[in-house]
Amino acid sequence: MEQVTDYFGSLVFDDKVMKSKLSSDVYKSLKKTIQDGKELDISVANSVAQAMKEWAILKGATHFTHWFQPMTGITAEKHDGFISPDSDGRVIMEFKGKELVKGEPDASSFPSGGLRATCEARGYTAWDPTSYAFIKDKVLCIPTAFCSYSGEALDKKTPLLRSMQAINKQALRVLKLFGNENVTSIKTTVGPEQEYFLIDKDVYLKRPDLIYTGRTLFGAMPPKGQELEDHYFGVIKPRVQAFMNDLNEELWKLGILGKTEHNEVAPAQHELAPIFSTTNIAADHNQLTMEIMQKIAKKHDLVCLLHEKPFKGVNGSGKHNNWSISTNTGINLLEPGETPAENAQFLLFLTAVIKAVDEYQDLLRISVASAGNDFRLGANEAPPAIVSIFVGSELEEVLESIETGKPLASKQSNFLKIGVDVLPKLPKDTTDRNRTSPFAFTGNKFEFRAVGSSESISCANIILNTIVAEELSKFADILEKSKDFENDLHDLIKDTIIKHKRIIFNGNGYDASWIDEANARGLLNLKSTPEALPHYLDQKNIDLFTSHNIYTLSEIKARYEIAQEQYSKIVNIEALTALDMVNKYYLPSISKFANFLYESIENKKELGLEAKYETDVINKVSKASNEIYTLKLELENALSKTSTITKVEDLSLFLKDHVLTKMEEIRSVVDKAEMIVDKKYWPFVSYGDLLYSVN
Ligand code: ADP
Ligand code: MG
Repeated sequence: MEQVTDYFGSLVFDDKVMKSKLSSDVYKSLKKTIQDGKELDISVANSVAQAMKEWAILKGATHFTHWFQPMTGITAEKHDGFISPDSDGRVIMEFKGKELVKGEPDASSFPSGGLRATCEARGYTAWDPTSYAFIKDKVLCIPTAFCSYSGEALDKKTPLLRSMQAINKQALRVLKLFGNENVTSIKTTVGPEQEYFLIDKDVYLKRPDLIYTGRTLFGAMPPKGQELEDHYFGVIKPRVQAFMNDLNEELWKLGILGKTEHNEVAPAQHELAPIFSTTNIAADHNQLTMEIMQKIAKKHDLVCLLHEKPFKGVNGSGKHNNWSISTNTGINLLEPGETPAENAQFLLFLTAVIKAVDEYQDLLRISVASAGNDFRLGANEAPPAIVSIFVGSELEEVLESIETGKPLASKQSNFLKIGVDVLPKLPKDTTDRNRTSPFAFTGNKFEFRAVGSSESISCANIILNTIVAEELSKFADILEKSKDFENDLHDLIKDTIIKHKRIIFNGNGYDASWIDEANARGLLNLKSTPEALPHYLDQKNIDLFTSHNIYTLSEIKARYEIAQEQYSKIVNIEALTALDMVNKYYLPSISKFANFLYESIENKKELGLEAKYETDVINKVSKASNEIYTLKLELENALSKTSTITKVEDLSLFLKDHVLTKMEEIRSVVDKAEMIVDKKYWPFVSYGDLLYSVN
């Protein structure tokens, strides 16, 4: 049998392949492009394209594509064959340097938020040589950024790359002050832990709500949910294991470092975590992982649900975005060091993150805002919608000592003097010590836990990179002017802690009292996407994005519009699906059941028998049917009003307040009816059928 070490990365045009297939001159200039972002010479591009093509054809590829990530949050590709007619009526396989570096997909239907008028609808794709090309389903995929002709970003990769440049620039300024001579670049690193559900394909196909919306809009809880906690880390069922084995193999071939797999809390819920990598690669790999999960599931007659809340009443799915900063010399800047100088540097980076999260709570919330994720955040199973930081008691004590000048309990002698003292040993977090925090320090990285399972991790990391870049730039501005570095550094860290400690919360984020306390601390509680999104356009955020060249003003506005529209479209589709299910299935089925009961009652009457059960239930289901009917008229009425609402922010709020709420009201009546209607009459498979469908 082939070993993992033999096939790992076999479908990737990685460094090893480049070294063996390219002349040393070409290899060197390509490496330069990869490391320093220098533009690639066309003759070099031609040689790379030639080598790539030959390699890909040997691996069975027939087509190539510029693989990109439009603002829909999923990936896009348009395949072009390598074939080109030859003079003798046959074909040759061709792939030129210009096809490698630039593409022009006719991609006019992707959302652009008004950045492109339809007459100049074309955008172009540009190769991101820092993310390796790979082969997927006989297609050579070239990771690219997608821009308009005037250079505006139309995708999620471009701003992510820009944000990585921004934090690189600012972190280097700070690192220079600490005398790090050898450090020439830093990169942020990310390890995204991915949660998902697996259900049987046959039952999936019996639920139009899952098919159209990715989540169930109706469904009563089965007698058994997740209360026994017997699924979490439980034995993996053979069918699921077979899926995981196939998935791992596919991921490994693509050089994706799938590492851990386990059952999650809810029945049918699982998790996959990769080993971390550079942020843009982690984002590409996470997109691929989500896509391949769905593909492999189908092969096993399963369906992989990536929605944040496929089932009401059991846990939803998220993505833990583990984030850190690494130097080209291999130092993790969020790892406390061994010497006073290393510790001082660590504390400065740490306080930069604390300040960033406090000042840009709104942007972090927005970076994970979606219709699906709204069902998770704040629902006592996922972090609350309030953004706060968990640092753990040991680190909190350190911060307190710096702030107050009082000695550390663990260090009898005196208080902690930055640049002079060594930090006490901090425990590395190996378990999830505080699952209720949206943003937790876990020893050498931060774990942003509010990201939704179906979302691209780009958005969260664009924001993280940018807000930390901003704070580092402010710190560098101050310290570059300093005449007494050690003292000024100490004061800066101390002042920052004092000003921003309100964002630190080590308690239970699910506790109702936290909401009041957070409110008293002046923290934001942006409960829903429509409430969060308008902050995108706050002046401080526009200033942030434009000053670090992440977005132009028109790019921000476009992204805002798209996010609003996306939300409204999703809720609208959900409402239409719910109405369809009510009109064509639930109401007629309940009626049929009532009719059956009615006949039973009549029959019993003739025989002079009592019909206690039938009479009781016919009353209940008739009442339910009338209620459902009234509510569904109200829902139709609310929906009909949406066409008159012109502003995107008004529309999303209206849908949240009047459409989603009405859908919930209908659902609660339908779900109650489900508990008493004969299963034979019930039109759809139940939660029990769905959640326990894989054996
Ligand atoms: P924990 O148990 O604290 O969650 P793990 O070691 O299990 O930590 O790691 C969880 C995820 O964090 C993995 O995907 C891992 O690769 C990632 N990770 C570890 N170190 C870093 C780092 N320096 N930067 C980004 N992600 C990291
Ligand atoms: Mg973790």
